[in-house]
Amino acid sequence: MTGAADQKTDQTKNATVRKTLISWFRENGRDLPWRRTRDPWRILVSEVMLQQIQVARAIPFYERFTERFPTVDALATAPLAEAIRAWGDLGRYRRVVNLHRTARIVVEEHEGRIPADPEVLVTLPGIGPYTAGAVACFAFERDVPFFDTNMHRVLHRVYFGPEVPEPAAKRKELLALAAGLVPVGDGWAWNQAVMEFGALHCTARRPRCEECPVSGHCSAHPGMPGALAAAPRAPKREPADRYEDSNRYLRGRVLAQLREARAADGLELRDIQSRLRRDETEVGLPRLRGAVRSLEDDGLACTVPARDSDDSSPGRAVAEERAAYDARPPGGAGGEGLAGIRVTLP
Ligand code: SF4
Repeated sequence: MTGAADQKTDQTKNATVRKTLISWFRENGRDLPWRRTRDPWRILVSEVMLQQIQVARAIPFYERFTERFPTVDALATAPLAEAIRAWGDLGRYRRVVNLHRTARIVVEEHEGRIPADPEVLVTLPGIGPYTAGAVACFAFERDVPFFDTNMHRVLHRVYFGPEVPEPAAKRKELLALAAGLVPVGDGWAWNQAVMEFGALHCTARRPRCEECPVSGHCSAHPGMPGALAAAPRAPKREPADRYEDSNRYLRGRVLAQLREARAADGLELRDIQSRLRRDETEVGLPRLRGAVRSLEDDGLACTVPARDSDDSSPGRAVAEERAAYDARPPGGAGGEGLAGIRVTLP
């Protein structure tokens, strides 16, 4: 086949895949709150929340957060502690710190308007190429390419074949392909369609190839189910890797106690320990201090010496006690020297 004929075939395939997936999306796409709006602030909040978080879980958090902070200005003028409270226990707490910083930058440097240009968006805290492209496309209807895991998988399968045991195409190649596929004037529908198709139909482990509207144009068809069955599975996690034993879980529990405490002067470390015990989370003070320190490092908590602590030097507890997770404290195995620390939201 000549180069010109190849090109024509590609164009025909591209046009068919685009038309088919957009029409599939119109019939099967979920009615999600962030699909009913083009408000850049709401789109940004949804995209920040949705990274590695399931749609169904994110919805109530999105509703509550945007009710409390309906505009970028509302978040920019609120204390960070309020933003952390409104974030609730969605997890991935550094995101809310970054979102708060982004809101302030947007107000101070962009006249309160979320930028439409992905190259400007990507300079804001916590916004990577995916989020920048998604905001530009879903809020401003710009015909820009980008992809998340679902989109990556769909495009790889349709154009290069199964992504297992090893991907046949590099990320760069897929991005170039994605750029050529975005239909002029219909980028919103196309990007939503590919994303939704990957989430609901061409899923990672159980693609529905037998009833697939693009199977006739898919390079992975009909071998996809067989390739998945033959692909090595990730080893099962050992009990030691349980989420409840992780520092991520502990950070979330500590933040939950600080949010619920409400008092502006926070809680003493030992109070936090007692509250966690009531919630059936047993943790020693040194490990708890390590979790608090990592929250401080991420801008999610502050510490000061407790009011009745013998230590009268402000900040000394922070400056001198550099306990890592599970390290023994200077004052003894029980962590007595750590108890006189007060922890607050920032
Ligand atoms: S045929 Fe299978 S692998 Fe190809 S797009 Fe459809 S569901 Fe995905």
